[in-house]
Amino acid sequence: MSLSRRIEGVGTSIILAMLEKEATLREQGIEIISLTAGEPDFPTPRHVVAAARVAMDKGDTRYPPLTGTAALKQAIIGKFISDYGLEFGLRSIIVSTGSKQAIYNAFMATLDQGDEVVIPKPYWTSYPDMVRVAAGVPIFVETHVSQRFQLDADLLNHAISPRTKWILLNSPGNPTGAIYNEETLRGVAEVLRRHQHVRILCDDIYEHIAFEQPVRNILQVAPDLGDRCLIVNGVSKAYAMTGWRLGYAAGPPELIQAMAVIQSQSTSGASTLSQAAAVAALTGPQEDRIAACEAYRRRRDLVASHLLRIHGLDFTPPDGAFYVLVDCREALPEIGLRKDEDPAFVARLFEAGVAVIPGTAFGAPGFIRLSFATADAQIERGLVRLATVVAGRS
Ligand code: PLP
Repeated sequence: MSLSRRIEGVGTSIILAMLEKEATLREQGIEIISLTAGEPDFPTPRHVVAAARVAMDKGDTRYPPLTGTAALKQAIIGKFISDYGLEFGLRSIIVSTGSKQAIYNAFMATLDQGDEVVIPKPYWTSYPDMVRVAAGVPIFVETHVSQRFQLDADLLNHAISPRTKWILLNSPGNPTGAIYNEETLRGVAEVLRRHQHVRILCDDIYEHIAFEQPVRNILQVAPDLGDRCLIVNGVSKAYAMTGWRLGYAAGPPELIQAMAVIQSQSTSGASTLSQAAAVAALTGPQEDRIAACEAYRRRRDLVASHLLRIHGLDFTPPDGAFYVLVDCREALPEIGLRKDEDPAFVARLFEAGVAVIPGTAFGAPGFIRLSFATADAQIERGLVRLATVVAGRS
């Protein structure tokens, strides 16, 4: 069968392959400890589920307005005012089927063949492939564990060309858990002022999972960039709502309008029931969200205390999200692997009964990503298995 050029060279997700492998083993009754998941292990808050039930019973089951219901858009506007002090009008908001679709809409609406998107590395696996699907070219900028994965303004400046359409900011970041500090944001803003043709896409999906300080968006330190900035967010991570597929974006009305055109010819908008649920999530009690963040913080510390005791592994305790990116480059040669052979290392860990994601999936060979969105006991047992493999005893 002949396939479109668009999907040539677009990878299938290593993460999904890992999850399938895990599921197969489980079906065979083989126990595997999973530190792979990119989703909260908590249930969706009860009041959120109840709101969806009410909407269903009321017959709120017809096609949604293309860019989102008025109630949800108002809730999103309120959220941006209270969290960032940023004011958006109704025409600046679009609701989509997950934040992923908002990003996809933005790329499809703005990229022509060969246009470039600058992506800090390590990156969320989907970004480069989403750019490629939209016929664009991902351009990577290295960030380093020793600098807590902050984005260097000079490196960013060098990565920008006349063909650059976007730079992507993801803070707190997947897979690093790094949060861009104010100095970094000011540096990035300075670079962007020199390159008026470049837009900024802020993927703030982990905004509410922040352990040390509230997350700052670049528009808070550089409001003058407002006409070039698209902020993407959603309810998946903060409210344990991954399956509801509900995300949103805020940005200049012309861009939002163009994204709506892509949406109108693909999904026609997000599920009405999920939109009703999202109103309850954003405007209702926030205790569950805060308690989940506290649990992640405690687990982060638990992971860190174990990792510190494993010789040959290096890591920066994450400031947010629920991942830790572990540098295994010193440990791998000690167990007969090359420094960059994280996939082989992950295969060994798998045989020892613990599943993690190879850093190669995030552009970080020699690293592995552990997710701590799982119960303490699982984390502890998983890390004991990791220590055994690193010590060459498995
Ligand atoms: N952005 C990042 C950095 C993510 O890690 C994920 C999911 O793992 C998403 C976006 C997608 O989230 P959503 O469920 O809102 O589509």
